[in-house]
Amino acid sequence: MSKRKSAETKDDPPVKKLTNSGHWSQGLYAAVSDTSLHLYSDDEMVVIKDKYPKARYHYLVLPKTKIANLNALTKEHIPLLTRMYERAKIITKDSTVKTFRYGYHAVPSMGLLHLHAISQDFDSPSLKTKKHWNSFTTEYFVDSHRLLDMLSNNGKVDDMTHHSKRLSEDLKCHVCRVSLKNIPTLKAHISKCFKDC
Ligand code: AMP
Repeated sequence: MSKRKSAETKDDPPVKKLTNSGHWSQGLYAAVSDTSLHLYSDDEMVVIKDKYPKARYHYLVLPKTKIANLNALTKEHIPLLTRMYERAKIITKDSTVKTFRYGYHAVPSMGLLHLHAISQDFDSPSLKTKKHWNSFTTEYFVDSHRLLDMLSNNGKVDDMTHHSKRLSEDLKCHVCRVSLKNIPTLKAHISKCFKDC
């Protein structure tokens, strides 16, 4: 395990000092404290498997400091977010599926900042709803590079709440953009259409 010095900033307290309300939306704070879930851990981040994976490979990279959401981010966080992205690339590099995206939901449901690393097969029984699909295949999914650009250009993350409307859009294949009428049809289609690189 890496011995990198903590990137904790003066405003971000360690996650372990937080009280956990027990509400489902705070479950990622508990995951940071539960070492049995850690695929990787260093002084500033942990990597866990998403509890309800929406693809064959679906990981979350979590900071060990309390960064509640995207609104809390400043330029000061760019080095940490860059290292989280680099770690996600390392964690996924030996996967049998090679095509991944790395990014954030525009309006996350879970407290504590988290970077998704998700393979693009979307072959998972936990992917059940239009909302699940659209959250990973429309503008609602904000690539790590785009988020870093916002921080470096504006010093903050743009308001992306308007992307919530994407969640109710019609289902479209993420590869060829054909419309599909429901999740079973979509899954059958992408099992043929998605060709891993
Ligand atoms: P979002 O907040 O929209 O970026 O998505 C939260 C992600 O966290 C989803 O992909 C969930 O499947 C996942 N998730 C929810 N609860 C847990 C948990 N306790 N441990 C790990 N992953 C979780």
